[in-house]
Amino acid sequence: MRIIIPIKQVPETSNVKMDPVTGTMVREGVESIINPLDLYSIEVGVRLKEQYGGEVIVVSMGPPKAQDALKEAIAMGCDDAVLLTDRLFAGADTFSTSYTLSRALEKLRPFDLVICGERATDGDTAQVGPGLAALLGLPVSTFTSKVEIEDGHIRATRLIEGGYEVLELPTPALITVVKEISDPRLPTLGGKQRAKKLDIRKRSAQDIEADAANLGLKGSPTRVVKTFTPKVARDGRIIEVKDDKTLSQAVDAIIDILKEKAAI
Ligand SMILES: Cc1cc2nc3c(=O)[nH]c(=O)nc-3n(C[C@H](O)[C@H](O)[C@H](O)COP(=O)(O)OP(=O)(O)OC[C@H]3O[C@@H](n4cnc5c(N)ncnc54)[C@H](O)[C@@H]3O)c2cc1C
Repeated sequence: MRIIIPIKQVPETSNVKMDPVTGTMVREGVESIINPLDLYSIEVGVRLKEQYGGEVIVVSMGPPKAQDALKEAIAMGCDDAVLLTDRLFAGADTFSTSYTLSRALEKLRPFDLVICGERATDGDTAQVGPGLAALLGLPVSTFTSKVEIEDGHIRATRLIEGGYEVLELPTPALITVVKEISDPRLPTLGGKQRAKKLDIRKRSAQDIEADAANLGLKGSPTRVVKTFTPKVARDGRIIEVKDDKTLSQAVDAIIDILKEKAAI
């Protein structure tokens, strides 16, 4: 089986801050990691390769630094990696990201399966997987919690509200996976050594024969016009309880407040 896994490098979520003026993410000085939900797609891809043979290729679109994420995927057992890096790709929305990845994947055909994470923890749209499937003309299963190969078909179990749905997809197909599908392994020492030696293939807009009109900020129909955290606009009143006497006073005070608000 030839499996392609698109992965994204994201800022470590516990450190993410938004610029209140521009509404964009403050990336300077923030550590970058593999999108945590992509560890599950890597694990599934490597397990399928171990079971059925073949190779797993990881692909990422991002700045040169994104090769660290690809190296980590190699250390986890992926065989090869491609980094799509070009100033023209900067500022891409989900359409432009899907388009750029689709051009790169066209160059990697023939493949049997594309495995995406459920969503990226920064952009958080979950649109790139299905967008990529649409542009490549592939059947898609989103929120996949189990994947099997049966008679050359992909049998995907999808997590749906209140249950599961089983789909059968001809190959090549694309699935996006949920955490339930696997327990990601840790990179091995041998894997780390292989990753260190591997020269990651870099591809530009020209290499993938992309139409510049669909690339980066200019080729992105979506604009994030504002991001904000809702403010809780409630007047609070703190009633302190120190002993039995203040406890009964507090209860009386709460009853009065509830009566005032016609809640009781
Ligand atoms: C606060 C905020 C809000 C945003 N809102 C929007 C919006 O509403 N609409 C919009 O179009 N864009 C939006 N963006 C931009 C968005 O982050 C980028 O378009 C991004 O390139 C792809 O979308 P995502 O991060 O949501 O990925 P998702 O669609 O959530 O990612 C799903 C999977 O796609 C694959 N993938 C995603 N990006 C890459 C990549 N660069 N390389 C390889 N594989 C990848 C991975 O397998 C990943 O697990 C927003 C960004 C921010 C910071």
